[in-house]
Amino acid sequence: MSELTLTEPLVSQISTVTDHQPASMAAFWMPFTANRQFKSAPRMLTSASGMYFENDKGQQILDGCAGLWCVNAGHGREAISEAVARQVSQLDYAPPFQMGHPLAFEFAERLIQHTPPNLNHVFFTNSGSESVETALKIALNYHRLKGQGTRQRLIGRERSYHGVNFGGISVGGIVNNRKTFGSGLPGTDHLPHTLNIDLNAFSRGLPEHGTELADALEQLIALHDASNIAAVIVEPVAGSGGVIMPPVGYLQKLREITRKHGILLIFDEVITGFGRVGEAFAASRWGIEPDIMTTAKGLTNGAIPMGAVFVSDAIHDAFMTGPESMIELFHGYTYSGHPVACAAGLAALDIYEQEGLFQRTLAMEPVFEAGLHSLKGLPGLIDIRNIGLIGAIELQPLDGQPGERGRRVFQHCYEQGVLVRWTGDILAMSPPLIIEKEHIRQLVNTLKEGIQLAFQNHE
Ligand code: PLP
Repeated sequence: MSELTLTEPLVSQISTVTDHQPASMAAFWMPFTANRQFKSAPRMLTSASGMYFENDKGQQILDGCAGLWCVNAGHGREAISEAVARQVSQLDYAPPFQMGHPLAFEFAERLIQHTPPNLNHVFFTNSGSESVETALKIALNYHRLKGQGTRQRLIGRERSYHGVNFGGISVGGIVNNRKTFGSGLPGTDHLPHTLNIDLNAFSRGLPEHGTELADALEQLIALHDASNIAAVIVEPVAGSGGVIMPPVGYLQKLREITRKHGILLIFDEVITGFGRVGEAFAASRWGIEPDIMTTAKGLTNGAIPMGAVFVSDAIHDAFMTGPESMIELFHGYTYSGHPVACAAGLAALDIYEQEGLFQRTLAMEPVFEAGLHSLKGLPGLIDIRNIGLIGAIELQPLDGQPGERGRRVFQHCYEQGVLVRWTGDILAMSPPLIIEKEHIRQLVNTLKEGIQLAFQNHE
């Protein structure tokens, strides 16, 4: 037994754990992290409120990334924590298979008020990766139900990120995430990515050149025949691969080609969902109706893990034709539609709606854009790209040390109290949608210093 006694308040014992460095950092194997390097110089966040984290040294850190593209309404939202606390004590868990609870139905109904008009059905998961796997499985199962079981090939895109499970890394296009894990799903192909710095450097919003890259899909169809292709999955704006924009008209073209050939179009909106590019979803900003849409992250404002897959009426209805006593989809998770996650999601959605945060993205877009593009002309800066409240700057890599300049800028920013996301020599920004002008100023000024220093010391 531990030394907990009834006379000693529990809270004081908990706070001694959270206020201090852990006694040892050996046991926690951190994800997507250089563990040994990190543990020799840890960056520990201990609390957060609004636009800022606080670290273990008491320093305020401006959150330029909404955590990991997820805390869209800013940190420490009381309505969310209160809803979570209430729900844990009222109904902490309900089995999701063959049982229900009201909040999951309510949340699904509320969510579809914001989706493109054809997406009226919601399948809950616990993460973006699970949303992707769910979407791919629904697509394959759908074609079988329609008597087209040969449609099994899945098409992703170079430099895309669709989570870390086997389906996601197979359609995903980030080499390091795939190459050490075997051969992945058979029958996957990849469209070219749409980053073209030669032609589109320093574009504001959607770049002009590259619409024709969507024609690569016609070539894959000519190679494999549409009768063998189930779905195409793309991030409308590719986030983790370096914030890569779709050229003007590119997504519409993908929609036309997929529709013409009976191939499903899946938009992975795990990052772009919940206001990141203005409108609730990127699909709506560009007036596109994908057949399936995957989400997570901003779904609960990052407070509780949850994902959701939105499915068109046509797909959903195809599953609802067998005997009523039959399970329609042999798929689901112990925590699908978890009551506490639903409570967090409903509270987050209330905030998004009441504060008009999706529209706010559009209002702040020009300020964010002007701030980022004011960096143009700095030494070694080869591209700036932005849409909504997501953006990136790309640096000329140092000879023989790719990623080093990016790391230096990231480290400088963190030391100066700004968190940006560092992926190679690309620095990505996706701040909470509550961002104000002075935060943008702080973000841009700190980046500027960081870039100048990285090049002074590394000429
Ligand atoms: N899809 C996209 C587009 C993502 O950006 C991410 C995560 O960043 C995922 C899927 C995976 O989400 P998760 O990390 O919640 O599994």
